[in-house]
Parts: sequence; structure tokens; C-alpha cells
Amino acid sequence: MDNFMILDGRVAVVTGGRRGIGLAIAELLTRRGANIMIGDRTIDESIKTAQIVAAECGCRVEAMQVDVSDFSSANALIEAAMDAFGRVDILVNNAGVTRDTLIMRMTEEDWDFVLDINLKGAWNCCKAVVRPMMKQRYGRIVNISSVSGLAGQAGQTNYSASKAGLVGLTKALAREVASRGITVNAVAPGFVPTALTNDLPQELKDGMMKLIPLGRWGQPEEVAAAVCFLASEEAAYITGQVLSVDGGMMMM
Ligand code: NAD
Repeated sequence: MDNFMILDGRVAVVTGGRRGIGLAIAELLTRRGANIMIGDRTIDESIKTAQIVAAECGCRVEAMQVDVSDFSSANALIEAAMDAFGRVDILVNNAGVTRDTLIMRMTEEDWDFVLDINLKGAWNCCKAVVRPMMKQRYGRIVNISSVSGLAGQAGQTNYSASKAGLVGLTKALAREVASRGITVNAVAPGFVPTALTNDLPQELKDGMMKLIPLGRWGQPEEVAAAVCFLASEEAAYITGQVLSVDGGMMMM
């Protein structure tokens, strides 16, 4: 059991890894021994903490400015990881945005913006990484969905659709690549306090809290733990699944 969830020698690409849940994922994967390539629309000082953690663990964290909604940018991210580390074993499609409003007020641009980043962005990165993973006959892809994609959330027709779309993408791709030693799974977080959720109205937060059997918000590190497991050797027999990390909110 000493080697449980050890990722020594593995290489992970984490999109949206500059802050929030993505940064927690990058930090945990590097603590387990993986080298990381972070791809984010903005790269700032915040990734320094992950680089310090990595150095302590004898690993490296590199970062690159990308827009995952653009295929050539997503492809460049995977190529940069290949150039830096020689392989890509793990892809975490974590980059995500919201543009919440009721459908009556939502613009076509609000819809396209969210779908292009959350869903097409994940597809772009999957498409770019599948070839090298197939050659290696090894890969772990983890898509960050959401409780909103499973249950739907008023004011989030765009976001809920993108996150539900990720579930379909996860299952379809899992079937396509299973014979090559590649697994594809999704993690569906509930409510986690980050920059993404800061501005949600207090009444909505209070209402959501009542639906959480464990009676508290989740932490980025708790989502990261689920991602790390699905990215590990030990999860080899799990594919096409959606793992909720939501304090029991979506219990069925
Ligand atoms: P966050 O806003 O802190 O982080 C999102 C990151 O994605 C940011 O660093 C941002 O710069 C990056 N990003 C945005 N657009 C990008 C693009 N086009 N290309 C590359 N990077 C881009 O939010 P978070 O809460 O840490 O969310 C991380 C993921 O978890 C998202 O997919 C989100 O939908 C999902 N999620 C979050 C919660 C929550 O409660 N926080 C719940 C369920 C799911």
C-alpha cells in the first residue's frame, strides 16, 4: 500500500490550473510525483506555490498561456508538454467559466462563450492528447463536470448544458479508447468556494446548503483527491464514470 496513488514519472496536463480547483489538482498530482504542464488563459504568480511544492518533490511544474476554446492553442499545450517532458499520461480538463442569467436575458454570445470553453475546450484537449496516449498505450483523462450538469441549475442553461455535455463526451471517448489502455472519467463537484462561485447570490448559496447532507461546502483539495485517484494506476478498471464530490447532494 506504500505506493498507493504514486504518480512517479507521470506527466499531467491541467487546464485552468492557475487557481482554484485546478491549482489544487496540480499541487496534489505533483505531490504524488507527477510533472505538470498547466495551461491557463492567464498565467500569474499563483502557480509559484505549485512550482515550490514540485521542487520539494523533485518534480517540475511548467505553465503556458492558452485558450482551450481554440484548437490550435489546445494542441500547442499538449505539444509543449510533450516537448518539456517527453510524454503526456494524464489530462485534466478543468478550465471552466460561467455566465449565469435566465434564458430570457441570456445572449447567444453568453451561450457560445461558455460552451466554447467548457465543452469544446475539453474536446480540443482530448483530441490533441489522444494520439500520443494511444502510441503510449496508456492514458488517464479526467473531465471536471458539475452537479449543475447532472441536475440542472436555473440561470445556468449554458453552463449546465456544457457540463452535461462533458458527461456524454466522457462516456463516448471512454468507449473509443478503452482498448488502448486509456481511461476517461468525469468528476462532478458540488459547491466549492472559489473565484467562480464568489459572486453567487447569498440566497442561492443558503438554498444549496440545505441540499447537502454533509452540511458544508467542498474544498478544492477534496475534488483534487478524486481526480488524483482517477488519474492513478489503481483506477485502471474504472472508465466512463462520473464521480460526484458534492457532500451527498446528488445521492441517488
Ligand atoms: P476558477 O475560476 O477559480 O478557475 C477556472 C480557471 O480556468 C481559471 O484559472 C481561468 O483562468 C481558467 N480558464 C478560463 N477560461 C479559460 C480558457 N479559455 N482557456 C484556459 N483556461 C481558462 O474556477 P474553479 O471553481 O476552480 O473551477 C474549476 C472547474 O471546476 C471548472 O470547470 C468549474 O466549472 C468546475 N466546477 C466548479 C465548482 C465550484 O463550486 N467552484 C463546482 C462544480 C464544478
